[in-house]
Amino acid sequence: MTTRRQRLVVLGATGSIGVSTLDVVSRHPDRFEVLALSAQNRVDRLAEQCGRFKPRFAVVGSAAAAERLASLLRRSDCETTVLAGAEALEGIACLADADAVMAAIVGAAGLRPTLAAARAGKKILLANKEALVMAGPVFMAEIQRNNAILLPIDSEHNAIYQSLPRDYSCDLSSSGVRRILLTASGGPFRRTPVSDLAHVTPEQACAHPNWAMGRKISVDSATMMNKGLEVIEAHWLFNVPPERIEVVIHPQSVIHSMVEYADGSVIAQLGNPDMRTPIAHALAHPDRIEAGVAPLDLCRIGSLDFERPDMDRFPCLRLAYEVLARGGNAPAVLNAANEIAVEAFLERRLAFDLIPIVIEQALRNTAWMKADNLDIVMEADAAARKIARKAVDARARPA
Ligand code: NAD
Ligand code: MG
Repeated sequence: MTTRRQRLVVLGATGSIGVSTLDVVSRHPDRFEVLALSAQNRVDRLAEQCGRFKPRFAVVGSAAAAERLASLLRRSDCETTVLAGAEALEGIACLADADAVMAAIVGAAGLRPTLAAARAGKKILLANKEALVMAGPVFMAEIQRNNAILLPIDSEHNAIYQSLPRDYSCDLSSSGVRRILLTASGGPFRRTPVSDLAHVTPEQACAHPNWAMGRKISVDSATMMNKGLEVIEAHWLFNVPPERIEVVIHPQSVIHSMVEYADGSVIAQLGNPDMRTPIAHALAHPDRIEAGVAPLDLCRIGSLDFERPDMDRFPCLRLAYEVLARGGNAPAVLNAANEIAVEAFLERRLAFDLIPIVIEQALRNTAWMKADNLDIVMEADAAARKIARKAVDARARPA
């Protein structure tokens, strides 16, 4: 048991991961204290969270949102200081008395604040996989240089972390690790005829069979870009070459991933598909705490199935392996183009099966560059967004 309460900053508090984080935190008032919360624009929900957790700071995306939040908080007698904008977001990510930062903003928008937490040497609970995908070398260098601690929240990476040796030194062979087996549910379209994928709707794409998540990651799960991003994430987190990361479709989402050792042993982490498990694991690490998750009932589940992913059905997964092999700015381009394409699909301006086409176009039309500093990463991000927007417009559905 820790003696002092852990002071926590939650970036992206109003999202799916943010809400699950605060649910776990609320079960352990003796262990955790909330120092700051952020949200882009769901002010009502953020106001309610401020009322419950009494953070010192709350950061929102715009001055208008800050004004609304401040007026809601005045009514409830809450003393939280309300701030707005990117600088304030980076500011709460490196508060001097913060012990841990939950990085749960979706997409590239999370990169700068998460990097700020790394530079300040914080314990980072990383859900925002896009930040690591875009800027792997820059991000990992800041972690190491500043002795920050990086704990994965993504359920697969959290499972791998739990299945690796405790003293894992980011060197596969000296740890006797042969391969990482990354499980994937296959999403809602695992069995949909490929010819129907042109007509699926955002509602169908967001109806994930096992997990309730934000809309962007739900679409990524349906294209399996999510698994592609996770292959890249695993590469950076655990220093594993792509040929040693195998994706296995496991529709029940009970085995969250596995590590295979040289002697043939395969160590897995199992659990119900509930993000509060990896969140509680990372929050309390190395202790174990109650997360509010129902016990796993294997007899009710009955059987666990596995199959190989079909790269023709899921070209996004193939593209992610390709950009990982290419390195440099290619992962940043893929990530940015994917964000634009997914947004267009969610707004019904782009057909689902054109998401990988838009990404390919962005990859083809940006010059490859080494990406060992943040400026190059951000340039690649901006260039890819521009090309992807054009590609979307060229293929956009008539209104
Ligand atoms: P979400 O859409 O539910 O929530 C996103 C949060 O980020 C919200 O609080 C929102 O206000 C904030 N946000 C959005 N745009 C922003 C911007 N431009 N600037 C600042 N803040 C912004 O998303 P989520 O499902 O909670 O996912 C968050 C991250 O966690 C993603 O990177 C996702 O890939 C990862 N993740 C999520 C799950 C899950 O089960 N939901 C699982 C694994 C990993
Ligand atoms: Mg995951």
